[in-house]
Amino acid sequence: MKPEIKQIKAREVLDSRGNPTVEVDLATENGLFRSMVPSGASAGQHEALELRDGDSKRYLGKGTLKAVSNINRIIAPKVVGMDCTLQKEIDNVLLGLDGTPNKSKLGANAILPVSMAAARAGAAAKGIPLYQYIGELFGVKANTIPVPMCNVINGGKHAGQENSVQEHMLMPVGAKNFLEGIRMVSESYHHLASLLKKKYGAGATLIGDEGGFAPSQIEDVSERLELMLRAVANAGYEGKIKIALDPASSEFFHEGVYTIGKKSYSGVELVDFYADLCSTYPIVSIEDGHAEDDWESWVEMTRKLGDKIQIVGDDIFVTNTARIKKGIQLGCANSVLIKPNQVGSVTETLNAVKMAHEHGWTAVVSHRSGETEDSFIADLAVGTNAGQIKTGAPARSDRNAKYNQLIRIEEELGNKAKFLGERIRG
Ligand code: PGA
Ligand code: ZN
Repeated sequence: MKPEIKQIKAREVLDSRGNPTVEVDLATENGLFRSMVPSGASAGQHEALELRDGDSKRYLGKGTLKAVSNINRIIAPKVVGMDCTLQKEIDNVLLGLDGTPNKSKLGANAILPVSMAAARAGAAAKGIPLYQYIGELFGVKANTIPVPMCNVINGGKHAGQENSVQEHMLMPVGAKNFLEGIRMVSESYHHLASLLKKKYGAGATLIGDEGGFAPSQIEDVSERLELMLRAVANAGYEGKIKIALDPASSEFFHEGVYTIGKKSYSGVELVDFYADLCSTYPIVSIEDGHAEDDWESWVEMTRKLGDKIQIVGDDIFVTNTARIKKGIQLGCANSVLIKPNQVGSVTETLNAVKMAHEHGWTAVVSHRSGETEDSFIADLAVGTNAGQIKTGAPARSDRNAKYNQLIRIEEELGNKAKFLGERIRG
């Protein structure tokens, strides 16, 4: 008997910022499989559409009842009855029902949760864990636990700041495995809290959307990095934890000019700014150093820094193979950030990772700033052997749901588990 999808039911629930989002329950003879979609704040212009109701009387216009209804009335009747182990076919039906290039008819927030729940049902039908099932869909033996990028200082939109670098992350590349790595970061995070409190008072340890501290007193990137490195040293991990940045620069790019704090830069000047930072601090990765359509500056950045650090494209590629392909042809990065809800289905997400890997680029699986307790991306990172995951500070359950799932997967894989550490770039 084929493992048939028996029922699909969607509902509106809340995300980590208190905004509505979509949850799907999908039932097969093996039980009920649930998925939820996250939501970005510094979202890229080229992302698949996140459908919001626009009814100002509910949730300030952010309601998701249209997406919920699209699932219950349009998607469910077509997908119920399908074999849940046929992920590609299911995703094709979903894309066909939408029929638009950016999922503007049904909404990516209607398509993705069904696609994710189907993957969970497929794994259960085969009697294997989700990461292993994703590994089979992707075509690898899933065994690599990702090195985490933990955003311990939140700036920009995630902290109510303008013209500010968004994410300052710790990467425990010197750890022997994930469990040790996340402990090293957690200890450093608490040392950072003490330093911030001592210097600026308890108010400086209030946190932003991704669980990192959001000290509005500290505008200067160098000061933020100095404090992070001092915290790492105080925790006893000097040299073992490196730094990754996501300036999310589309947010501070206006009319051809980048503005960080009170200083303005051209695209080329900004490359020099990053080059200086890289020569002063142990930075291993910079994401969205330039804006989402400033391809020329991306090329210049890659020419200058591409053999020293990982240059990750988020808003510029939006997990979309057409844009990643253009980036590869231009040579404008060497890594892709992977956010399932930017593209809107599991199959397309896997295709994006595949394209990156086939061209010798890395892929970093990522959360959104508005998250839920769904830990799908933890399994996705292992299932694609991506080697890296970015899912916030080691604080707040919407972030730790992912880190805790990785702790479980590493334990389950035992001595088969790999952790790339310093070898994140191969
Ligand atoms: P977002 O930000 O989820 O708010 O878009 C995350 C990122 O820029 O990586
Ligand atoms: Zn980003």
